[in-house]
Amino acid sequence: MTGTGQPDSGSNPGQRQTSRFGYCSWHQGHSSGVRLISVQEQGSGPGGGQYACHSCRVAYDLVPFAKEPR
Ligand SMILES: [Zn+2]
Repeated sequence: MTGTGQPDSGSNPGQRQTSRFGYCSWHQGHSSGVRLISVQEQGSGPGGGQYACHSCRVAYDLVPFAKEPR
């Protein structure tokens, strides 16, 4: 079988919260400067944290989960 390999790299919550490279759940792609967004998911499924890049934050008016310095 030709497995493409899922981009499921275990991302540990790092101590550093300034401009981190991660996966943006909104435009479904990796981007730098993503932040954890507080998502109120309704229905089934564990409400995990989702990250959004700066562009999506502005476009969708997203609110970061926690305020970060600078
Ligand atoms: Zn994005």
